[in-house]
Amino acid sequence: MIFEVAPALEAPAFVYDLAGLDAHAAAVRAALPGIELYYAVKANPDPALLRVLDAHVDGFEVSSAGEHAHVSAVLPKARLAVGGPGKTDAELRLPAHRVHVESPFELRRLIGSGVSADVLLRLNLRLETTGAALTMSGPFGMDADGLAACLPLFTDTVRLRGVHAHLASGLDAPALLELASVVMAQHDEEVNVGGGMAVSYTSPGSRFDWAAYGAGLDALRRPGQVVRIEPGRALTVYCGSYVTRVIDVRRVHGEAFAIVHGGTHHLRTPATKGHSQPFTVLPTGTGPGVEDTPVTVVGQLCTPKDVLACGVRTSIRVGDTVVFGMAGAYAWNISHHDFLMHPKPGFHYLT
Ligand SMILES: *Cc1c(COP(=O)(O)O)cnc(C)c1O
Repeated sequence: MIFEVAPALEAPAFVYDLAGLDAHAAAVRAALPGIELYYAVKANPDPALLRVLDAHVDGFEVSSAGEHAHVSAVLPKARLAVGGPGKTDAELRLPAHRVHVESPFELRRLIGSGVSADVLLRLNLRLETTGAALTMSGPFGMDADGLAACLPLFTDTVRLRGVHAHLASGLDAPALLELASVVMAQHDEEVNVGGGMAVSYTSPGSRFDWAAYGAGLDALRRPGQVVRIEPGRALTVYCGSYVTRVIDVRRVHGEAFAIVHGGTHHLRTPATKGHSQPFTVLPTGTGPGVEDTPVTVVGQLCTPKDVLACGVRTSIRVGDTVVFGMAGAYAWNISHHDFLMHPKPGFHYLT
């Protein structure tokens, strides 16, 4: 569908396949019997995506007052969990189904604020996470000492519900399940084992094994125990495309470059992850080009970092339409839109 509409679009533009997202989210939901599913809004807060996801998730994880206000405006009835490593007093007072508390000091501030709250304590586990793209060590959450310091503080109005452990980013189902089993062996209260399900930008057709993960979590779950996950990227990444058009094709010192409309100020993902964003070239152009050659696709920014894909073998010519896939998460919303003051992309929704 995207390849049918892309040639007619003014470029650059983001296209979101809402029907595809709906089907994907339904399949994920179906693979998680008895497991609660939250969506981590920071992956992509686009209102149209949130409305589609709302039919399939139990709630949303927000990490700032801004995300809280945004989701509350789009979906006034949504259940929200408030996370984030450094919450302000105002953020601690936001109405929430759960507050993911990061430290004993934050818990004291929450109690001192006088609000009523249901808390998950965020754990920082030193676990083996070979293969993870990003392990969540560093400042996130608390170690065993922090946990022990929190336990005596709870009151009638600020209640301990369980623990939260966003374990790592970019793990496959068996690896993520192994980490979850460590947490769930130690905690029989409510657990949120986070997001971080792997997506592969080098093989866009592969998918996280939701069925294995769901069955594995269900097997670890104690009777009556609430087990929740909060994926971001693996839910929305596949539904987004960034459509652009080739302005120039040139060789510099033998290396072939295609310069396209837009760039990493719209789609920063390949720059942050250091990968080639997967793309398809639609032959809409008639200008000069190269045939079956390694090509580096760059945007319009005056910086050598504006690389969307590096040395990928393709045929490409001026006027061709380039459709970058896997642009539905950590793409537009993490990009530095105002750098160089180029026009903003269009946004289109396939239903
Ligand atoms: C970023 C984040 C997520 C989502 O991670 P993905 O890799 O997008 O699935 C979930 N929970 C927390 C606490 C996060 O910081």
